[in-house]
Amino acid sequence: MKIEDLNKEIRTCKKCGLYKTRINSLCGEGALNAKLILVAQAPGENEDREGRMFIGPSGKVLDELLNEAGVTRREIYMTNLVKCFLPKYRKPKQEEIQTCSQYLDREIALIDPKVIVPLGYYSAMYIFKKYKRLIPEFKSDIFGKLLLAEDKKIFPLSHPAALLYNKSFKEIMFKNYEKLKILSEDCKWYPLCPMKRFYEEGRLGREWIELYCKGDWQSCIRYYMEENGKPHPDWMLPDGSFDERLKQCYGK
Ligand code: SF4
Repeated sequence: MKIEDLNKEIRTCKKCGLYKTRINSLCGEGALNAKLILVAQAPGENEDREGRMFIGPSGKVLDELLNEAGVTRREIYMTNLVKCFLPKYRKPKQEEIQTCSQYLDREIALIDPKVIVPLGYYSAMYIFKKYKRLIPEFKSDIFGKLLLAEDKKIFPLSHPAALLYNKSFKEIMFKNYEKLKILSEDCKWYPLCPMKRFYEEGRLGREWIELYCKGDWQSCIRYYMEENGKPHPDWMLPDGSFDERLKQCYGK
């Protein structure tokens, strides 16, 4: 299956009642080899009218957030959980999500991104469920937290439109979106870092590598010490704590 064939199906889909009120059902947009996929909830009015992703006010906010993060639309893939406009911006019904999400599943399989970024509650809940990362109680502080599932990183974020309604989210949203660039790249020190060797030799759990070296390496204390030429023991973990077992093994 090629993306063009899938998009043709999406454009002509009548699988749920939303086809009656839409102007356009929206296909995803962006790089087919993207490392990162953004999954919004559903198209807005402007998107429905023009048949394009993220145009209008929320698109402008998204561009600002991406620009600050050093990420361009060209290098990512953007799509929706539900492909048709929800009249009066109502919430999606479970049966609509169930029916339409088969397209999202197929997009994810075709693009095969490393990082999935669901935007907002419904997209996040769907992605958590798909990757069996069930969260007992959904709280908004889940936005901006990195979760690992199978071979994917899941990084839920607030939808850009949230900033249109509440300017007090500005600081936290810019801070969280800034991580997009970091999450789509590995730490530049990784190939030389003893963390890599310890991991490959089975001395170090993969969670350290996934959460830091191949995840949020900007939060790694080792990274900053390397950058500033500050010495540190090789058995220091990315969070700055020390692992005595690594110390004993080191050099063997
Ligand atoms: Fe088809 Fe999805 Fe649109 Fe429903 S919302 S008609 S399933 S594309």
